[in-house]
Amino acid sequence: MRRLAIAALAGPLALARGAPAKAGLLVFLIILLTAITQIGGLVLWFCVPVCVWLNNRLGDRGPALRGSACLGLLASAYLGASVATIPLASAFGRAPLDCGLTGAATYEPRTIWTCLLNRHYVTLPARQALQKVSAELYADFKGPWVTYLDAGFPFFDWFPMFPHISHGDGRRIDLALVHMGDAATPSPIGYWGFVQPRPGDPQPCSGREGWLRWNMAWLQPLLPEIELDVRRTAALLGALAQDREVRRILIEPHLQRRLGVDHPGIRFQGCRAARHDDHIHVEFEAN
Ligand SMILES: [Zn+2]
Repeated sequence: MRRLAIAALAGPLALARGAPAKAGLLVFLIILLTAITQIGGLVLWFCVPVCVWLNNRLGDRGPALRGSACLGLLASAYLGASVATIPLASAFGRAPLDCGLTGAATYEPRTIWTCLLNRHYVTLPARQALQKVSAELYADFKGPWVTYLDAGFPFFDWFPMFPHISHGDGRRIDLALVHMGDAATPSPIGYWGFVQPRPGDPQPCSGREGWLRWNMAWLQPLLPEIELDVRRTAALLGALAQDREVRRILIEPHLQRRLGVDHPGIRFQGCRAARHDDHIHVEFEAN
């Protein structure tokens, strides 16, 4: 029993002597999963010794079966941990945004992966504010179209959410721009399908772009051309700006001008951060 507990705590480090390359790869995967999902790395850490034990039990029944058993174990443990995270996160003042599975919400994620990766947690006031704004717009425009991208992780204000500079404290939600027709966004994840500035538009970062300002020029020709729905995006921006729970909104100046919405809470993020003409970054008040 004691040996089992030590093996579980040691995770991939127990393999370091016999299979150092495998142990190194597993540590890399644990760091990667932690960066992407927060809890996934911990799940993998504890799954490694169980997987080693499982492989020993299966003996020489073939690598495909042994690999499938380990992947099944990891997927089940991750899903279980994600479900258990929901009540645990409330102790940290976080709640999950609606994942759009029931059809009852007035907003939804752009991709279900946002929920599967646990990147949809926010503070309760932030969730209430998004619910309120999206419900108003749902009534005005007859349909659910407020779509969120990354929000926050379930635990710890200090934990960074790659690749965002902020988003650690659960008070920030990225919302997709609204496009014409039923098409959600040009990019399947919502990010990087930019609305390009038109001739004469303000371009304050021209010639002095920071390394975090990714233009993703190689990706743009691969994405479908879908026209921006100026009316609905402007309604979304205006409703957010008017909401008392919203502290500030980040968007590119050329997009703000095109939308025709002016408010002191709407700001430009500067040239050292990511572009904000593929999404709207919304920061809520700390309550
Ligand atoms: Zn953001």
